[in-house]
Amino acid sequence: MAGRTPEAIEAERRVLLVSLFATVGSTILVIFGTLAVMAGRSGLALVLLVTAVLCLAFMLYSRLTGRARDVSYFLSALAFLLGVFLILHGGVEGTGVYFAFPVAIIMVMAGFTSVRFTMWICALFIAVVALGLYGPYSQEWVYPYSLVEKSRIMVALAALVLLAVLAEWMRVRSYSATVDTHEQLSVDARRDPLTGLLNRRGFEEAIAEFSSERFPAVLSLMDLDHFKTVNDLHGHEAGDEVIRAFAEHLRRNLKGRDLLCRWGGEEFVVLLGQAQPDEGWAVLDDIRRDFAGTRLPIGDNGLRVTFSAGLACMCDARDFETALARADQCLYRAKDAGRNRLQIAETEYKQGVAEPVG
Ligand code: GH3
Ligand code: MG
Ligand code: MG
Repeated sequence: MAGRTPEAIEAERRVLLVSLFATVGSTILVIFGTLAVMAGRSGLALVLLVTAVLCLAFMLYSRLTGRARDVSYFLSALAFLLGVFLILHGGVEGTGVYFAFPVAIIMVMAGFTSVRFTMWICALFIAVVALGLYGPYSQEWVYPYSLVEKSRIMVALAALVLLAVLAEWMRVRSYSATVDTHEQLSVDARRDPLTGLLNRRGFEEAIAEFSSERFPAVLSLMDLDHFKTVNDLHGHEAGDEVIRAFAEHLRRNLKGRDLLCRWGGEEFVVLLGQAQPDEGWAVLDDIRRDFAGTRLPIGDNGLRVTFSAGLACMCDARDFETALARADQCLYRAKDAGRNRLQIAETEYKQGVAEPVG
């Protein structure tokens, strides 16, 4: 399908997030790190400046390798550690906790496409912070928050992380739905809804992907005989039923590796891979005989329908247009010669034209 795929848009989002978080984050970290140096808070300054350098290194790595996905995980892990540090250390006079909130959101956003994994990481984050604030070492290592402040930090942090995860969950859900819809539309755009066979577009794409080992191949253009009469006598619905029956007949009689397409109306195109002209002829002539001998369940007494086909050889995928034109000329000759028969150019099949049945 034309346009960008949801996967490409998602990949672009990751690159954007990594660049944004790394540049804005490292700038802010450098500013606060410098302020901490000036205030003589060497421990805090060291952590902030090292984190800034790591952010920039991650971004550089992402630019050089294009591995934004891995880098976003590193960024998320870094945000995890920085968030815990800011809360427990307290930054300058206990204000570190304010900065831990946006950092926790970065942890969720940059992190993980798997929401379940994100939830575990967030639960771990809350648990580590709680352990730090209330655990046995809280007196020695942690900023001296009052008990009330500790509770408020915990509640606010839990609410924030929960909402961030919820937003991510909804985003991932709608992303998955978009991927599914996109896949379905791509399949629909290549299939004929009446028969489920490839349509013209799907066939042309499939030919381009047809492996070179499957050539030489035999291409055949088929057209139902006197089909207007079927429609006129039995109605359009019955005509559709005949088209479906013919498609099913082809599907049943051709190997899975051959390409099968409803070219339009009651015309079909078949590509038989790894086939010499005489092999292709034999396969298609058997199909023709069988179909002509089948009584379709239409009308009071059933209905017999025949088809005519033109055949041409194809040496590689680039031959398609010319081979189709040759098959079309042969089809025209088959119709002219009385229908219910195959035709192949004499140059392509030295034995000439087989006698039609019936
Ligand atoms: P010929 O033997 O020369 O092929 O005669 P024909 O009557 O089959 O002529 P032609 O191939 O030109 O006719 C195609 C007819 O198929 C015209 C159109 O009404 C009918 N048709 C095309 N698409 C459909 C379809 O999807 N359903 C039905 N029921 N009829 C269709
Ligand atoms: Mg036709
Ligand atoms: Mg026809």
